[in-house]
Amino acid sequence: MVKRMIACCLLLVLALFGCTETKNTQYYMMDTVMSFSITGENAIAAERAIADRVAQLETVFSPTREDSELFRVNENAGSAMEVSRDFANLLALSLKASAETQGAFDVTLGGAVELWAHGKVPASEELEAQVTGSEKISLFENTLQTQKGLKLNFGAVAKGYASDCAKEILEEYEIPRALLSLGGNIYAHGEKEDGTPWNIGVRDPWGEAQDWLGILTARDEFIIASGDYERGFEEDGVRYHHILDPKTRRPATSDLRETVVVSQNGSRGDILSTALFVMGEEKAVAYWKNTRDFEMILVSSDGRVLITPNLKERFTLTKDSYILEVIG
Ligand code: ADP
Ligand code: MG
Repeated sequence: MVKRMIACCLLLVLALFGCTETKNTQYYMMDTVMSFSITGENAIAAERAIADRVAQLETVFSPTREDSELFRVNENAGSAMEVSRDFANLLALSLKASAETQGAFDVTLGGAVELWAHGKVPASEELEAQVTGSEKISLFENTLQTQKGLKLNFGAVAKGYASDCAKEILEEYEIPRALLSLGGNIYAHGEKEDGTPWNIGVRDPWGEAQDWLGILTARDEFIIASGDYERGFEEDGVRYHHILDPKTRRPATSDLRETVVVSQNGSRGDILSTALFVMGEEKAVAYWKNTRDFEMILVSSDGRVLITPNLKERFTLTKDSYILEVIG
């Protein structure tokens, strides 16, 4: 009898306060490790919806899966075709970004990306033979036509787009707090339970995967990093990383080792982190000065950490081998 009363009281308490729980999961999707930590009454349902949505986006944007929409589009280059809404949306956004970044971000590098993916330096003739260039694409609503031979690749933006979609789901399910990591792309939703912002580690490009050079606080923001340490291979003692300079179709010889973009939009953050890396320090700083609608951290190859002024109170350098500079 007493036991039953206790159980009833417990149920009443749970019913009154709702059942807040945290769901932690990890997946390998979009060619990277993703981890989700979601807290709230609807955590389980929201987590399921996000995992399903990201898995579905993988069937749209995977460059290697032969059943993906992108694979079909690349195979059919030269003829007009209908594309899905996600595909049309992200392609339109990417074409705009290409113009805005003066070609530093280029969604038409698919052929070159494929050649570099074999783990050895491709022949120059092969690289030069690739068909690239936004002007070889016509997109009207959902109808796409690309020039024969042209291959699209969304590797520098698809994870950012997926994080935007995940944010929408968190809002739809009224999730108060969550921390999502889609490879190097972080979305910090809400704040920690104690009311303080999330702490996001900024990777040390000279260190191992879990080595931070500093900590950034964040609330309701995307923190998206690109760097030469992420993927690549070595040949004859030279390292070749995965971010290409569209002008040469070779790994960008940037004077930056890492770029971190803090943004209200995941797709834009992902595009910019790649584009700023290709631009190099001088052009990246000039680009920021012209737009000022995002924050950034640049790690230069001579060991300086450059931050935009609004990050001054939010970024703490934790390694004294670096020199911190605030962009003026
Ligand atoms: P990561 O995938 O490690 O998060 P990025 O967001 O910087 O890194 O994207 C790099 C990927 O984007 C490459 O693996 C390649 O598929 C593609 N890519 C490389 N260079 C460019 C570029 N200049 N513009 C657009 N996409 C690129
Ligand atoms: Mg990117």
